[in-house]
Amino acid sequence: MRDFNACFEICLNQKNTGKHIFFDNQGNILLDAETNSFISSDMTIKNDAYKVYESKTSAIFISQQNEIKSNFICLKQREILRYLRDEYDLMIYSRAAQLFSWVKSYNYCSTDGTRLSSINEDLSKSCSSCQKSIFPKISPCILVAVLSDEKILLAKHLNTPFFTVLAGFVEYGETLEECVVREVYEEVGIKVHDLKYHGSQTWPFPNQLMVGFIAKAYDTEIMPDHSEIESAEWFDKSNLPTIPPRLSLSRSLIEKALNFLP
Ligand SMILES: [Zn+2]
Repeated sequence: MRDFNACFEICLNQKNTGKHIFFDNQGNILLDAETNSFISSDMTIKNDAYKVYESKTSAIFISQQNEIKSNFICLKQREILRYLRDEYDLMIYSRAAQLFSWVKSYNYCSTDGTRLSSINEDLSKSCSSCQKSIFPKISPCILVAVLSDEKILLAKHLNTPFFTVLAGFVEYGETLEECVVREVYEEVGIKVHDLKYHGSQTWPFPNQLMVGFIAKAYDTEIMPDHSEIESAEWFDKSNLPTIPPRLSLSRSLIEKALNFLP
């Protein structure tokens, strides 16, 4: 487990001293081109800011910058990925980007259109008309490495340069395990059993919680659903295609699953 105290605090019109993460008014994160980092060193700013993280030694704030200094570059969405050094950076970016989006983008009640309150300490927003509390949305999504006795099943999705595990969003009324069984059958026509939990990971594009499993196939005949995947094949350990980059749960899931193969 990480050694940190998750923390959220609204710090409006105060001096906010600590590390800072800046976004532009479109929600793009700003990268310091001199340090190649999206987290500043300790500084004090007077803008409205939200404290999103606090450890024993430092606090990290997010705020919006309307005037962007010349040494900053705006990064869109996944462009940030190659600047994340480790799991800690991914967690900080994920928390910061999703909180910024929630603070800035979701301002009206979907029931009656009333303007919502500003964000509360528990991250909710309130509607003064229908009295509802509205919480930020996180979408659970499964990843599954399917194994036969000797091989791993990997698929190439449209517009990706690598082969990876199968994946899909959890539907209403469904458990994670039921989602695994359904997604594998839908995408490649194979029934699976003997599910093992691998781990989970935040994925802020835009708001997934990825949950990884390893499963065994009852049979090996692949019938790919070409609306979702370009191709799917069985690979043995010595014949792996290009797989996803480091820092992704799919990568660690593939590496773990390979340990079960001869
Ligand atoms: Zn309402």
